[in-house]
Order: sequence, then structure tokens, then C-alpha cells
Amino acid sequence: MDLKLLERTLAELGEPAYRAGQVWRWAARGADRFGSMTDVPAALRDALEQTVPFSTLALEREARARDGTVKALFLTGDGKPVEAVLMRYRDGRRSLCLSSQSGCPLTCSFCATGQMSFGRNLTASEILDQALHFRRHAGAVDHAVFMGMGEPMMNLDAVLGACSLLPDVGVANRRTAISTVGWIPGIERLTESPMPIRLAFSLHAADEALRSELMPVNDRYPLADVLAACERHYERKRRRVFVEYVMLAGVNDSHAQAVQLARLLDPRVYKVNLIPFNPTRSRFDASSPKAIEAFRRVLSREGISATVRLTRGREIDAACGQLAARSSRRGQPSPLGGGGGGGGGGSTATVAWATLLDRLGS
Ligand code: SAH
Repeated sequence: MDLKLLERTLAELGEPAYRAGQVWRWAARGADRFGSMTDVPAALRDALEQTVPFSTLALEREARARDGTVKALFLTGDGKPVEAVLMRYRDGRRSLCLSSQSGCPLTCSFCATGQMSFGRNLTASEILDQALHFRRHAGAVDHAVFMGMGEPMMNLDAVLGACSLLPDVGVANRRTAISTVGWIPGIERLTESPMPIRLAFSLHAADEALRSELMPVNDRYPLADVLAACERHYERKRRRVFVEYVMLAGVNDSHAQAVQLARLLDPRVYKVNLIPFNPTRSRFDASSPKAIEAFRRVLSREGISATVRLTRGREIDAACGQLAARSSRRGQPSPLGGGGGGGGGGSTATVAWATLLDRLGS
């Protein structure tokens, strides 16, 4: 829901300041239309139905994997593709993978999003609408990672704005992670922010030359400088930084490269997540499970804690940018309404709109 449009509309209708917070709380708890917001006057609900679209995003396509992973492809009002994923885990955790941009201006060579053209930054409302979609259709959600399309640190105002409201949807800041290629100004801003959001750093190669080949952004923000910024982040926040490392067969998965990575990282500061590569239309292949496990063992022998990230939704192209890339190969996608799904929970909260807007950072 375009929260700024909502605010403007309510102001024009002469509504009291608490109304916007009231409407937002309903949406955050999974309401699927203004009509179900029973403590909002009926005439106002009708007026809102006429003037404020319930979501800034139209659902274009949805894919479900056997493991419960759901991936949604949306279009913004101006027709830009946006992807988001819901991952369900056996321990009950329900994690959202959110996009911060449509496409991505960076060109990491193994990433499907990096191969498509950059659209634009998403607004805070467009980020929140990804979360609200799953909240409406799949129930409670409790974790979020900015690991969908885009580089969140290049759109940090909107990302932090969305993070300030995500707790109302069920996702505490402590259970939210922002993943970055190593965009230093953004890392520094996150370090200064009071929000206890986890920092994740996509490292992918301990060697500067190889890293520049995989991630051209390394020429702008070299690995050594990014690690220094991550360490300052740790000093200030006292929360470990997660290093993301996508495993590419014969490229970055050798024994020697594991040793080099381990020696680069301070074990107090970093925890490594090894990510099985989700094959895209690129020159890269996934490392074998055996190679990934061997790499992990070297890291832990060298004192670096490392886990292998579970692969979710592989058969539905759940990796970054894959669904949008595939859809655009089939020709221009056409908007398709969202709608349907579960009703809202009750809400007695009356958050003043000023507070909401402050939290959104506008
Ligand atoms: N731009 C940010 C966030 C988006 S990508 C970043 O780079 O961190 C989120 C993670 O998915 C990154 O670690 C990225 O390298 C990884 N990734 C991209 N394409 C992938 C693929 N095909 N398989 C597995 N991981 C991938």
C-alpha cells in the first residue's frame, strides 16, 4: 500500500491523524482489503477502496516448490519486475527474501539479476508490499533477508524505512539481515543506525583479482577496505557479520582458496555461509556437495565457523533474478491482479500517522 498516498488521501478527507496507523496495522496483520477493517468507518472504507490501491505491486506470477518455498514475481505500477520469496523451514521459521531494487546496477557475473537491465530503486511501500503479500496469503512471517533483487545499500533510505515498519508485520529488526556486495557508505550508515539489523557481506572470493572478475564492484570498493568497514561494524554493534560465499565449481572452491579465506577472516567477527550456486544462464557451474563440505571442513579446522546454506526452491528458479529473467525471455509480462487470501486479525492499535511517517524516514 502506498503509505504516502494513504496519508495524503486521509488528510484530504479530513480524517484524524491516528487513522493511517489504524489502517496500516490492519494491513500489517494480513487484512486483504479496506472493507475488512471493521473499526474504520464504513464510508471511509468505501472512499479508500475508490482511491488507494491496496498494493503498490500487482502479482504477475507465483511458483511453489515442494519444500514449501513460494516465489512471487510482481510488477510495480510502472511495470518494473520485482521478486520476493517465502521460505518455510522445518523448525517453523518463515523467512522472507526481499528485493530492494528492480534489477540491479551492479553486474556480478554469476547473478541472474546482474545480467538484466536495471529498473529503479523501490520505495519503502513497494518493499513492504512484498512482505504484506506473503503475510496475507501464507500467514505469520518472522525473518527477512534483503537477498532478492538489487543492492540494498544503494537504496538504504527506503530499505531502512521498510525495516522500521517490518516489526508490525512480525519481523523484528534482530531477525532482519541486509546483504551487500560491500557498498562501504551503506555499511557505515548501517553501523551508525540504532536498528539492530544483521549485516551480511557477499564476499565470494578472498583473492582481489578473482573477486573483481566475479564482482566488478570490487574495483570501486576493494575487499580489504570492505573488511575494515565490517570490522568497525562489529566493534560498534557487537553482532557477527555473516559472510556469504557462493560456491562455483573450479572457480572459488579449492582447498587453497578455503585456507586463504580462513586466514583473511577474524573468527570473532565473521561467520561464513556457504551458498550452493543455483545455476543461471551463465558460464558457471555449482560446486558438488562434496566440494562444499570439504571447503567447510577446511574453514572450521582453521577456526572459522561455517555452515552450508540450505538450498530452497531450486526447481522454481528461486535464486536472485531468475524468475524475472525467465519471464522477460518469454516476452513482456502483463499485470495480473493480486487479491484473494486470508483475512485480517483484529487491531486496537492507533499509531499516530506522524509516528509512522517518522518511522518510514520521510
Ligand atoms: N546485492 C546484494 C543482495 C542481493 S543477492 C548482495 O550481493 O549481497 C543475495 C545473495 O545471493 C548474494 O550473496 C549473491 O551473491 C547470491 N546469489 C546471486 N545469484 C546467485 C545464484 N545464482 N545462486 C546462489 N546465490 C546467488
